[in-house]
Amino acid sequence: MLWNKSSASKFLSRKKLYFTLGFITGTSYSYYYYRKITNLKLQHEREQLSTTHFTPYKIKSRYAVDSSHYFLKLTPVFQQKNNVWDQTRGKIWSIQIKQPEIMIVRDYTPLPLVLHKNETNTTDADDDEQDFLLSDISYSSVSDDILLYIKKYNDGEVSRWLSNLPLNHKIEIRGPIIDYSLPQDKDLVLFTAGTGIVIAFQAMLALKQNGNSLTIFHSCQNLEQLGPLKDKLLQSYPKGKLTFFQSDMGNTIINQAKFIPKPALNSMGLICGPEGYIKTLAGFNIRKQIQYQSRGY
Ligand SMILES: Cc1cc2nc3c(=O)[nH]c(=O)nc-3n(C[C@H](O)[C@H](O)[C@H](O)COP(=O)(O)OP(=O)(O)OC[C@H]3O[C@@H](n4cnc5c(N)ncnc54)[C@H](O)[C@@H]3O)c2cc1C
Repeated sequence: MLWNKSSASKFLSRKKLYFTLGFITGTSYSYYYYRKITNLKLQHEREQLSTTHFTPYKIKSRYAVDSSHYFLKLTPVFQQKNNVWDQTRGKIWSIQIKQPEIMIVRDYTPLPLVLHKNETNTTDADDDEQDFLLSDISYSSVSDDILLYIKKYNDGEVSRWLSNLPLNHKIEIRGPIIDYSLPQDKDLVLFTAGTGIVIAFQAMLALKQNGNSLTIFHSCQNLEQLGPLKDKLLQSYPKGKLTFFQSDMGNTIINQAKFIPKPALNSMGLICGPEGYIKTLAGFNIRKQIQYQSRGY
């Protein structure tokens, strides 16, 4: 067959057309897959606990200590790549929980403890203190669950809302928010009040690593408000390192102030609790306020 000029140019233009079509299809597919992978990566990132966005967690269990204090165990909806305790070594940290209906957030301080059912208890009672045990976690613990000790205010927006949500309900949280980096080379004297006691547990975990000592002065209405945290503290702490002040017994840090040791050279003090408590102990000139609660214990 003879090729004339016009059939050669027809062949070339068809070739060009095929090439162009192939190029467009190839580019579109590549772009489609690139977008798909990027979106998947983005979605994967959004599933991980972070300070930059909210991540879904489910309410796994709730245990009421009394009418105004409860434990809340949260579990991530998606498996977490990083161990948050490992990420926050030596730090005092908190998370923020979002109340989506009125779009507000509140801070809560995770406990480095695991709350589980006491299998040896055979009573049928619900929410019985005997039903629950607390065990320590370490930086290498694998559980992604988050345990909170919460004070419920009858007119408090978030603490009241959380106390009424059904089990398995999804909520959104973000964090870890670093509230304070504990110095490596100092003994710590901690003054806590109310739910501020959770800071003592975070500090215990941090100080276990570097061998510095921790002395705790805790103020509350009564020790029963602490639920199983009370026994956990008494087991973990030798006498002299832990002092309780119970206002129901007329025993407050103010009227016992003379028993508090003077600051030592290699130690530092931290005050954690409601605003009024911080102001009473530290005065109005505070450099850093770790925990703030609007009112009461
Ligand atoms: C870093 C950090 C960590 C924290 N960790 C914990 C924790 O582990 N556990 C815990 O229980 N709490 C913790 N808190 C406190 C917690 O964030 C909330 O403040 C608390 O739960 C109350 O929130 P709420 O929405 O339930 O109550 P809110 O709606 O904020 O109200 C709380 C109380 O204050 C009163 N109130 C509100 N506004 C005013 C006002 N303008 N004047 C006077 N009274 C007012 C309300 O009537 C109510 O009685 C932490 C706070 C911080 C900053």
